[in-house]
Amino acid sequence: MDYKDLANLIFPNAKEISYYEEKYKARNLKEGAIVTRFAPSPTGFVHLGSLYQVVIARKMAKQTGGVFFLRVEDTDQKREIENGVTGIIDSLRDFALTPDEGMISETEEIGEYGPYKQSLRKDIYQAYAKYLLEQGKAYPCFATPEELEEMRAKQETAKIRPGYYGVWAKYRNLTVEEAAEKIKKGEPYIIRLKSEGREDRKIKHHDVIKGNVDFPENDQDIVIIKADGLPTYHFAHAVDDHLMGTTHVIRGDEWLSSVPLHLQLFQMLGFKAPKYAHIAPIMKEDEGGKRKLSKRKDPEAAVSYYTEIGVPKEAVVEYLLNIANSNFETWRKQNPNASIDEFELQLNKMSVSGALFDIVKILDISKTVISKYTAEQIYEEAYNWAKNYDSELLEMLQDKEYALKVFGIERGNVKPRKDIAKWSDVKENIEYMYDNKFEEKERQYEFQKITDKELIKNILTLYMEKYYNENDDKQTWFDKIKDLSEELGFAREVKEYKQEPEKWPGHVGDISTVLRVALTSRSNTPDLYEIMQVLGKDRIEKRFNLFLEAEGKNR
Ligand code: GLU
Repeated sequence: MDYKDLANLIFPNAKEISYYEEKYKARNLKEGAIVTRFAPSPTGFVHLGSLYQVVIARKMAKQTGGVFFLRVEDTDQKREIENGVTGIIDSLRDFALTPDEGMISETEEIGEYGPYKQSLRKDIYQAYAKYLLEQGKAYPCFATPEELEEMRAKQETAKIRPGYYGVWAKYRNLTVEEAAEKIKKGEPYIIRLKSEGREDRKIKHHDVIKGNVDFPENDQDIVIIKADGLPTYHFAHAVDDHLMGTTHVIRGDEWLSSVPLHLQLFQMLGFKAPKYAHIAPIMKEDEGGKRKLSKRKDPEAAVSYYTEIGVPKEAVVEYLLNIANSNFETWRKQNPNASIDEFELQLNKMSVSGALFDIVKILDISKTVISKYTAEQIYEEAYNWAKNYDSELLEMLQDKEYALKVFGIERGNVKPRKDIAKWSDVKENIEYMYDNKFEEKERQYEFQKITDKELIKNILTLYMEKYYNENDDKQTWFDKIKDLSEELGFAREVKEYKQEPEKWPGHVGDISTVLRVALTSRSNTPDLYEIMQVLGKDRIEKRFNLFLEAEGKNR
């Protein structure tokens, strides 16, 4: 009996690997094209850190004319979650990060290199495990949980490196006959790699992000096929990324220490190893220190958080590129209107230690992103958000024509307003343009320099009687406010006032502030002329009267 017989006994039906090697042809892509993937467990949940990896991996594939695919790693069936694939696919689609290949729903996929769900690739893994068994590079291991526990305890007492290796690898040196006999008797077993590595030897590895790193070789006889016939993550990684033609494995740096094992697997299987790029996690400041952004502690770690507060998806993606490459910010300044596809991401410029998460920065980016939207886009997005999260806002947005006028204020010009960071800001932002809200609410009139009630009353009355005309263009409108200022003894021009401030009680700006505050109750709003255009004469009068009446009562 030889290795081949043992391999046949274990996997009698497995195909020759040549079958798969021929079936999955080398990809025909141009030089330098990156083939990479996102390979999550189907937990349904997408962490901001995973989204970060997706943004990076997909961008690298896109900008090199390569392929980005989605592989579902569901070999740990204890962790399985119902509809877990759907949650991931939906999130990627929401963020416009749809893969070129791979799973597209719980059961469907596209692409020539599938199945893209590991649990459907059992035969493939077994063929490659058989191939290793045939060469004596893998073996069945019959260790019981008790035996393994006993080994672990001994290692611990003796303060010896833990694991199944060297002299501790009890079933490594069984003869094929001994192994075959146990199998025939029905003893349970798993398949382990017969490691050829030595702990006292080093391998040198060049990581695309981390640079040069040295590791001891792997000498652990790791499990490659588990008792349920499914592979471990490590073995599936080597087989899949080989057959799927992955050129770059872009993944979280918690896997960096597995590199010696992975390179060894590629080498023992006779595959060319891919390049590795290990991404440092997104960090968060916490009690003066830094820690990883945590799914358990930080709500902002879930990508659904951004949907809930209403940050546009493209702002989140842009933020992630921002922390990926520090030159992104300068690029954005120079190319304010360019699509992010034009930015060239560089893996070797990524931080080795991990970027610090910054919500203020996300919201800031979001403000800029939203400022470039048309009134119509804002309306659509705010409306869709309100449908799920805010019935009051939804109610306000029922009159689309009016809402478009409100959103159109100071928009579509060179310097659009930048006062909305997220859809959940919208209600507060536009409330004063809605009469019922404006009237219902207890208003705090934020008057500034001019606070004298008589003077305010005078300004409003005089303005309506003598100066206001609904049909004035902006210049005329402003000239008239200047005339009003002059009539009341205020400076026509701010500049003039600044030169000799003692000469006047104030300037035209102070007068228009009174109009603004009386109309909106706020001292800070977008363009007053446009606001007045949207309100129209009757509503302007009504608002002035409301203010005057309230004042009358307060006396
Ligand atoms: N399933 C692994 C994970 O979710 C994939 C790691 C990899 O990209 O190779 O961490």
